[in-house]
This record gives sequence, C-alpha cells and structure tokens, in this order.
Amino acid sequence: MIVVTEHGATDKQIEEIIRVLNEHGFDVHRSTGIQQTVLGAIGVHPEFDHRQIQLLPGVAEVLRITEQYKLASRAFKREGSVFDVGDVRIGGSQVVVMAGPCSVESEAQIFTIAKLVAASGARILRGGAFKPRTSPYTFQGMGEEGLKLMRSAADEYKLKVVTEVMDRSQIDLVEKYADILQIGARNMQNYTFLKDLGHASKPVLLKRGLSATIEEWLMSAEYILAGGNHQVILCERGIRTFETATRNTLDIGAIPVVQKKSHLPVIADPSHGIGIRDKVIPMARACVAAGADGIIVEVHNDPDHALSDGAQSLFPEQFTQMMKEVRMIAEAIGRSIL
Ligand code: PEP
Ligand code: MN
Repeated sequence: MIVVTEHGATDKQIEEIIRVLNEHGFDVHRSTGIQQTVLGAIGVHPEFDHRQIQLLPGVAEVLRITEQYKLASRAFKREGSVFDVGDVRIGGSQVVVMAGPCSVESEAQIFTIAKLVAASGARILRGGAFKPRTSPYTFQGMGEEGLKLMRSAADEYKLKVVTEVMDRSQIDLVEKYADILQIGARNMQNYTFLKDLGHASKPVLLKRGLSATIEEWLMSAEYILAGGNHQVILCERGIRTFETATRNTLDIGAIPVVQKKSHLPVIADPSHGIGIRDKVIPMARACVAAGADGIIVEVHNDPDHALSDGAQSLFPEQFTQMMKEVRMIAEAIGRSIL
C-alpha cells in the first residue's frame, strides 16, 4: 500500500500515519518529496481495511499496489530515480557508458583500456576481479590484486569503477575499491546475498537472471531496497531462449516495460546480450534507442588473447565508433552522453 500525504501535511501528522501503519504490522519506508511525502507500507495483511488510513489527517491518497514489488514500483515513486556516483549521474536525461574488459588481467591491460575508454567518453570502468565462470578450470579473476589495479587505473583516467561481487564474504572488500557493486546474472536469485546487499553502502547494479521474468527481476531488486539500500540499477543482459545463433537473446523490449513498472534506472549489456563482437554495436544502438539509461560494454586492447569473453569484446576503434553512433542516437531522443 502506498500512502501519499497532502501538500503541507505536518511532520506530526506523518508520524501519526506511520504509527498507525506500524501498529497494524506494516513496515514503513518514507520518501520525502518537495511537496508531498510518500509512505510505502510493506506487509501482507489481506484483512486490513485501507480506509482506516484514508481517514487520517494529512492523507491525500491511499493506493493499493497489486504487484508484489512495492519499493521498486512506479506507484511508490513516480519520478525516475537518479543516483549520483561522485560526479557521474545515473538516470535522468543522461545516458551513461560503462566500458572495459570482461576481466582485469594485468596492470598494462587495465591501464591501456581505461585510457582508451575514457578518451571516447565512457564514465565508468567495468572489469571483473571475481569471475563467475561456467568452468572451474578457466581463469577465475585476479581477486584483490585486480581490484587494486582497477581502482588505480580508474583514478588515473577519472573514471568510476563497477565490478562484480560474488558472495557476501566479498562485499566489504569490493566496497573498498568499487563505486558500484555488480551482481551477476547467476546470482540474481541468491536471496540471502540480496538481503546482505540491502546493507551495502554502495549502489548495486543488478543483472537480470538468465531465465528470470521481469517480475522476478524486480522482486530481486525489492530484496535490496527492502534491506535499506535504495540505489539499485537494473541491467538487462540477455536471457536464455530457444535461439542458438546468439549467446543470449537481448530482451530490448524489457527496457521500456521495466521503465513503466519501476522508477529504477535501467541499463543494458549488449556484449553479454548477443555475445558476438560484430553485432555488439547494432545492439548498443538499439538499447539507447529503446531508452536505456546506460550501456555496459566489453572492450579489450587485444581481444584475441583475452582471458575471458574475447569473442564479444570490442576492439578499441570499434568502441570509438560505437560511441559516435550512440551519441547521435541519444541526442535524437533528447538525451545526452557526457
Ligand atoms: C560480466 O559482466 O562479465 C558477467 C559475467 O556478466 P553476467 O553476470 O551478466 O553474465
Ligand atoms: Mn564477460
């Protein structure tokens, strides 16, 4: 249930509304706007008569939300969420570009790539130090050493860092080096982990699970929001379908669908979404045209020798070309890539 207060409702009135909701067993999340306060009342109490709240002084509107996700819904927050990660804005009219290798491999590699993606207009450096690999016999990432290298390369070229955290034991460590915590597709439904991320101090980039519906994806975001971390960025990265010609099927339709259902920023990952290097640029164009708030793209200085996902990593000159094209598309729809 969502309770919207009247313009000019006093703090005392709002506190009384919260008290009554708590008394009936609801957890209350408060979002204070410029003129009105929105209270998200979380809890399943089918017998509760919402008119009891409607009648309280200071209440303008009570909305019952039929979706299972509440805090992630547009009903809870009508305007799109915008998060500032240092001087990089996520959401709003800007389209943010996150780029870098699949994995951090060496100092020379990450510095070379950071320099080139920054020069073309990326604001956030991506790269994994803890890698969720299908085979336990393949490169698993450099661990803390990789995080350190990534942080210094990002600082050198004025970039922010997004990198994957794979389980709760890594949260504190990754938070020391990263600006955004990436949760991989394979972990999207690891609910105890999502609860832990609710207490994390950094924004979370939540990838869509390989076979997750939009509803399940938003429920996973809800776990993090309900834990108290309100900075969740959704990332469409392709789903498993019957198609075998591509690595995954990038569900571009999910972008506008989620934007209607949720206030959270939605970015897209054309690299994992299609998995084939020469198709990444057209998919990146399509994601921006569909209204994504950003894209996350794999780029490598030497993709043929990359330790992971070389086949879907752009060559530097392809990344430069992609940036030119997506910039034009962003402008055509009234947005910008800084
Ligand atoms: C990655 O970003 O390199 C990655 C492993 O992503 P996903 O979890 O979407 O497969
Ligand atoms: Mn990858």
